[in-house]
Amino acid sequence: MNLTSTASKELIDLFLSLATIDGISLHERNIADHVKTLLQKNNIKVIEDGTGAKINGNTGNLICFPPHYDASKPAIALCAHLDTVTPTKDLKPIVTDERISSDGTTILGGDNREGLSILLSVMMNLQSITSPVKNFICVFTVGEELGMYGANHVDLSPYNVTEAYVFDCSKRPGIYIKDCAGCMIFTAKFHGKSAHAGVAPEQGINAIALSSKAISSVRFGRIDEETTSNIGRITGGGATNVVPNEVVIDGEVRSFTKEKIEHQFNIIKEGFQQSLNGIGTYSITSEMDFHPYVLDANTSIVKTVEKAISAAGLRPEGIRYTGGSDANSYNAKGIPSVNIGIGAQKPHAFEEFILIEDLIISKEIAIALIKE
Ligand SMILES: [Zn+2]
Repeated sequence: MNLTSTASKELIDLFLSLATIDGISLHERNIADHVKTLLQKNNIKVIEDGTGAKINGNTGNLICFPPHYDASKPAIALCAHLDTVTPTKDLKPIVTDERISSDGTTILGGDNREGLSILLSVMMNLQSITSPVKNFICVFTVGEELGMYGANHVDLSPYNVTEAYVFDCSKRPGIYIKDCAGCMIFTAKFHGKSAHAGVAPEQGINAIALSSKAISSVRFGRIDEETTSNIGRITGGGATNVVPNEVVIDGEVRSFTKEKIEHQFNIIKEGFQQSLNGIGTYSITSEMDFHPYVLDANTSIVKTVEKAISAAGLRPEGIRYTGGSDANSYNAKGIPSVNIGIGAQKPHAFEEFILIEDLIISKEIAIALIKE
């Protein structure tokens, strides 16, 4: 691999130019407009969908069509997300021969500007690919970091998308997420009865005590090798002289099948109910944050991604993973999807970095994917 070639320098510069543009979730306007301008200059048609308004954001998803795109044929989608978890406009990138990082005072935004720069670079340099190229589109989503909002709302049905390849996994190139856990989030409300804590405590029912008893009556953490659960937030109570009447707890359950998630959620529900022992009441609601997916080794997408990784000179390794991505959303829509390792390491942290060799080889994987 030639890390100092013109093409490599161009890719690094493209990444750096994108990384310093702000685009936190629901505020992706600047980065989206920049991407649109870049692509339009290169004769690549871009449409922005109406997702922004639906998710209270200021930007929609971008769907990009290379010049050879044929609407009458099925297409594959190459995907990344536009948003970052925290601002990057003050990013001061440190570039060495081996890696790119921030100066330690901001995130780098390699999650997911690395994926974005790879796919933009592929689209803008299609003429350098000498062999025939598949019919493909690129999809750049908004609001991914909040729970795949953009991917959940994007409508890919007009484009007959057969497979979606997401370039958003922090693992090093070679690895891809073949099976991914889903995540259910729940909110439980414990209702007691308020009373003056000093004058008439016997007339009150302490909702903090109810909730703590409930939480300690159920096992959380690692439940089995593919199931985890957590209580992540507890809110309630007020003044020290009032017996609190309401406590709200928020938590999650993750596993690799919907059945296992529901089974663990039922254990939590029943455990909470029993812990009350007739004192106070509680209610609980739940929703799927993202759905699990498990891909068979014989599916076309698994074979194709492994072939592409091999073509880039790496050993493919499909892993099971418990962190969600847009791939979960596409699979839930019925479009087979994998999340591909691009080595955007330590995502969301100020220590975030990418290795230049990973940036370059991830682009090789993308090119191999679109070659016939
Ligand atoms: Zn990401």
